[in-house]
Amino acid sequence: AFDVLIIGGGPAGAAAAVYAARKGIRTGVAAERFGGQVNDTLGIENYISVLETDGPKFAAALEAHTRAYNVDIMNLQRAEALIPASQPGGLIEVKLANGGALKAKSVILSTGARWRNVNVPGEAEYKNKGVAYCPHCDGPLFKGKRVSVIGGGNSGVEAAIDLAGVVAHVTLVEFAEQLKADAVLVNKLKSLPNVTIHTNAQTTEITGAEGKVNGLKFKDRATGQEHLVPLEGVFVQIGLVPNTDWLKGTVNLSKFGEIEIDAKGHTNVPGVFAAGDCTTVPYKQIVIAAGAGATAALSAFDHLIRA
Ligand code: FAD
Repeated sequence: AFDVLIIGGGPAGAAAAVYAARKGIRTGVAAERFGGQVNDTLGIENYISVLETDGPKFAAALEAHTRAYNVDIMNLQRAEALIPASQPGGLIEVKLANGGALKAKSVILSTGARWRNVNVPGEAEYKNKGVAYCPHCDGPLFKGKRVSVIGGGNSGVEAAIDLAGVVAHVTLVEFAEQLKADAVLVNKLKSLPNVTIHTNAQTTEITGAEGKVNGLKFKDRATGQEHLVPLEGVFVQIGLVPNTDWLKGTVNLSKFGEIEIDAKGHTNVPGVFAAGDCTTVPYKQIVIAAGAGATAALSAFDHLIRA
C-alpha cells in the first residue's frame, strides 16, 4: 500500500507528489493523462519565475521533476471509485477503470476540471488560434484587438469587464433573455464604453480564415436574424466542470461539483485530501493548483504522523 496515493497528474498532483516524496514516504500518482490541462495550453506566461513557456514543455517539466524522486507514476489510469477506510487509520481503496485497485493510507484527489465547450462549428478548429477559455491567461494576447465573450453568468461578465481593460472592444453574447451575473457586475459592464451586449442570442459559429478566428456568428432568438461580428478572439465562458462525477456520494461536493476542502486541503473523508481545479479553491490557475498540491501533501504527511 502507498502512504500517499495521488489521483491526477496535473500541476496540483505533480506538486503533491514532489512534496510527499521529499518526506521519504511511499508515493504513487495515478493519472489519466500526466500533465493535465497544461497539455492543451499554448503559451504560459504567468507561472512565476518562468517568463514564458508552452504547455507541452511545462507538462514535460512537471513529469521530469516528479520522476526525479521515488514516485510510482501510473499514467493512463482512470479512477472510478473511492472507498473510504472501514476503520480509523485503515486503508483507503481506489478502484481503476482497468479493473485493478490501489490501496493507501492517505489519498490526494487532484483530478482537475475542463471548460465546457459551446460545440459550434469553428470552436475546436480554432482552439488556441483565437478561441480561448481563460481571460487571466490569454487576455493579454488580444491587446488592442476585438473579442467576444460567450456567456453572461458571473464568469462571463467578469471576463468581459477584465478584457475591456485590455482589448479594443468586447462583444458579450448571452443565450438567455437576461444576463445571469450579479447586478453589481452587470451594472459595471454596462458602464463600460467599449462593450456591446447581446442577450437572447444564440452563438451559431466561430468563423476564421488562414488558421485564425475572424468572426462570430449569432442568431437573434427573437427575430431569427443572423448576425456576424468581425473580431480576432472568442472567450468561451459557459462553465468549468470539475472531474468529480466518480466521487458523488462519497466526498462532499459543492453545488458546482467541486470537492469541498478547508484551508489545509482536508475533505470530509478522513485521510482524503484534495487540491487544484477539482476543488472549491477560488481561482483556477497553475500556480494556485501547484500551491494547493503542496498544501495537500503536507496535510497528508501530518495525518500520517498522527495515525
Ligand atoms: P488538471 O491540470 O486538470 O489535471 C488533472 C489531472 O487529473 C490530469 O492528469 C487528468 O488526466 C487527471 N484525471 C482526471 N480525472 C481522472 C480520473 N478519474 N482518474 C485519474 N486521473 C484523472 N493556467 C495558468 O495559470 N496559466 C495559463 O496560461 C493557463 N492557460 C490555460 C489554457 C487552457 C487552454 C486551459 C484549458 C487551461 C489553462 N490554465 C492556465 C488553467 C490551468 O491549466 C489549470 O488551472 C491547471 O492545470 C489545474 O491543475 P490541476 O492539477 O488542478 O488539474
